[in-house]
Amino acid sequence: DRVKIQSALLSVSDKTGIVDLARALNAMGVRLLSTGGTHKAIAGAGLPVTDVSDVTEFPEIMDGRVKTLHPRVHGGLLAIRDDVEHQQAMQEHGIDAIDLAVINLYPFEEVRAAGGDYPTTVENIDIGGPAMIRASAKNHAYVTIVTDPADYEPLLAALTSDDCQTTYALRQQFAAKAFARTAAYDTMISNWFADALSIDVPVYRTIGGVLKEKMRYGENPHQSAAFYVTGDDRPGVANATLLQGKQLSYNNINDTDAAFELVAEFAPENGPACAIIKHANPCGVATGPTLVDAYKRALACDSVSAFGGIIALNQTLDAATAEEIVKLFTEVIIAPDVTEEAKAIIARKANLRLLTTGCLPDPRAAGITAKTVSGGLLVQSRDNVVVEDLDLRVVTKRAPTPTELEDMKFAFKIAKHVKSNAVIYAKDGQTAGIGAGQMSRVDSARIAAMKAQDAATALGLAQPLTRGSAVASEAFYPFADGLLAAIAAGATAVIQPGGSMRDEEVIAAADEHDVAMVFTGIRHFRH
Ligand code: 5GP
Repeated sequence: DRVKIQSALLSVSDKTGIVDLARALNAMGVRLLSTGGTHKAIAGAGLPVTDVSDVTEFPEIMDGRVKTLHPRVHGGLLAIRDDVEHQQAMQEHGIDAIDLAVINLYPFEEVRAAGGDYPTTVENIDIGGPAMIRASAKNHAYVTIVTDPADYEPLLAALTSDDCQTTYALRQQFAAKAFARTAAYDTMISNWFADALSIDVPVYRTIGGVLKEKMRYGENPHQSAAFYVTGDDRPGVANATLLQGKQLSYNNINDTDAAFELVAEFAPENGPACAIIKHANPCGVATGPTLVDAYKRALACDSVSAFGGIIALNQTLDAATAEEIVKLFTEVIIAPDVTEEAKAIIARKANLRLLTTGCLPDPRAAGITAKTVSGGLLVQSRDNVVVEDLDLRVVTKRAPTPTELEDMKFAFKIAKHVKSNAVIYAKDGQTAGIGAGQMSRVDSARIAAMKAQDAATALGLAQPLTRGSAVASEAFYPFADGLLAAIAAGATAVIQPGGSMRDEEVIAAADEHDVAMVFTGIRHFRH
């Protein structure tokens, strides 16, 4: 199953290590073939190398769009070496076998990430490269395909130790990696199109990405896990810089994403905001005059649950906030930026992960979310509805006061990020109680009220913050009971989608208690 490498085609955009590889291959007696730029680099180092154009007897044309798309190249890669007819075809058409292909592609991802304009990005879609990679990988019975400069060393080690031969097992591995590469490359391209055209429909997008890291384990220690990046330039956990702390775990990544997406609902220009997350649900969210106030107010909602939580901030982490945060055990902090002073304070906690992103993601942006089901994937456009854009309809006799309205919007923003059934009490830009993930809306309302009572006791308040609060329900109240539970907890204003068969009954119950209620017309299920 060993194949001796006698000829190699090198065609790379990322020229990292290519000259050293060419030198080593040349020293082992491998004939080198190459395309324009790669040829120049190798010949420039004084190594013997043939230009592909001399093999194809055809010049590179159309700005390189057509350089290796030729039967002499593809025949050399695809020929079955011990097939008589294939051999005849090679002889008849002057095709030489190519045993090794070293190819990496036009830097589509980099050009996209750098914000290249439309024609530049399109021009960076590699055509001949993927064709050669796929041809070589298909013919891995004979051909060795290397698509990653990180594999030059293992390749050379294998060749050096085995008389310039590769094993079938190695060629299979490289082929698997090669198809992963071309699949990811096309994924990036299709998703760039969807973004460029603002297509918010999942059928025009491809689910997939590039392996970023293998994780120690998944949601539980007995599950294996890996983190893939999709190449979207959305600021968030996938694109963040880890300034300190150990590698993020599967659960960390999931929770950090939930935290940052939630805090991004609060535009920095409207003032500081903080979200604390446990198990993908917020246990406290608040705005405040300063960032440290926002943090303290978020923490006050449920300081017990906040232990070991994830903190997301909508502004640069400053020293005062950092000093408060390190008082409690926290797993991860994510923020757009951090001051040097704050960095030094966080450094006192070696295990605390600190992530920065440069800016906040746009909550209104298009995009997709996906989840697996047995034997399938469910894909949908992301929930990018923002309460400020909604036409809120007052349905009760009493209209909300301006303060109530602010708290309603605040609570509804958070409801979007809480597992259904979600009930959120809020007052003065601070969550008073959050009820998440219950099978009944009444239970969520009760749990939220209970947590608010616990918080009041912990803070030594005369009464819980739910007194005089606004309450948000992420979906309509099917009966009046959920609303009555909220009113019993002291809510004076209610925001909910509306649209239930029993809206009349629910509105009547609100009117009876002089509660102001608005309908959003939009629900935020999150299952
Ligand atoms: P070079 O820098 O050697 O001129 O070009 C190397 C790049 O060209 C590689 O990224 C390779 O994938 C790509 N490439 C090779 N052949 C073709 C082709 O026929 N068409 C296109 N569009 N790209 C090619």
